[in-house]
Amino acid sequence: FMRDLDRLRDMPAETLDGMRVKLLTNTGLLADATPGLQRGAEGVGLYRSEIPFMIHDSFPTEQEQYRLYSKVLKAYAPRPVSMRTLDIGGDKQLPYFEINESNPYLGWRGIRFTLDNTQLLVSQIRAMLRAHAEHGNLKLLVPMISRVDEIKTVRELVEKAAEALKRDGIEVGIPEIGMMIEVPSAMLLLPKLAPYIDFVSVGSNDLTQYLLAVDRNNPRVSNLFDNMHPAMLVALEHILGQCRQLNLPVSLCGEMASDPVAVLMLVALGYDCLSLSAYNIPKIKLLIRSLHHADLLPLLEQARHCSDETQIRALFSPVLERLG
Ligand code: PEP
Ligand code: MG
Repeated sequence: FMRDLDRLRDMPAETLDGMRVKLLTNTGLLADATPGLQRGAEGVGLYRSEIPFMIHDSFPTEQEQYRLYSKVLKAYAPRPVSMRTLDIGGDKQLPYFEINESNPYLGWRGIRFTLDNTQLLVSQIRAMLRAHAEHGNLKLLVPMISRVDEIKTVRELVEKAAEALKRDGIEVGIPEIGMMIEVPSAMLLLPKLAPYIDFVSVGSNDLTQYLLAVDRNNPRVSNLFDNMHPAMLVALEHILGQCRQLNLPVSLCGEMASDPVAVLMLVALGYDCLSLSAYNIPKIKLLIRSLHHADLLPLLEQARHCSDETQIRALFSPVLERLG
């Protein structure tokens, strides 16, 4: 098995007709680095920084964060690592900082929380920049953007933090700054957001939740939560089209990237950078290597006319069955 993994690790995720798909990994634990690299992750598409915060018993200091981020960047260097600033709120709670709200997914979450706690955000940015100064492979990713002023402020904070570090004798360049597209308003504002970002990452979990108004964790409505809802197809196509026009690299990092049927739709749409859990990389790579991109295009055209997710899944599923 390990030998199979080794062989597959160095083979590209490329369709039989030459569409190369970059496969990155989602992580939040340093311990994931070995399985990720063994499975050929070409970098980290999503480092969920809330995970180390959750397993701590108080807010980690800048120094503690710096030590950790530095180890993470080092483990993957020279591959790029997209580190996301703290995304708590919603279903993600810190044991030492309770947020009680009646509508947590629409409340104090992600960038809204950290912009209201600037010291915390700045300590995180400084820690990331210090690690970047050593290893050079940081990309900074911002969650839950829904307004232009949020990303503008983050960029200013990063620039100021770099200047402050310079005064302390730490020379660090401004890393690429990207944002998650997971709130519908961000998807609709791309041309206005573009001046402040270098890349985008689609969070298909939250984008589905917010686009369909379906709680991603509520079992009562879990039958309504599907990344292949026709509105998601329109959204994903819109995002890719806008990003191409604006020259913004785009990856997708939600659970959708681990669902083989959904990956067929993503590849058909032209998504060529996916980030997923390390353990799912071999499965998705094998799938991509067995496909012709061109064969998927007529299915995509039919999918555009479907009125529900069951029909869309029924179009793409036979491809998997044929591949075994
Ligand atoms: C997402 O929303 O799709 C995503 C990748 O972020 P998270 O699951 O951490 O909210
Ligand atoms: Mg999210």
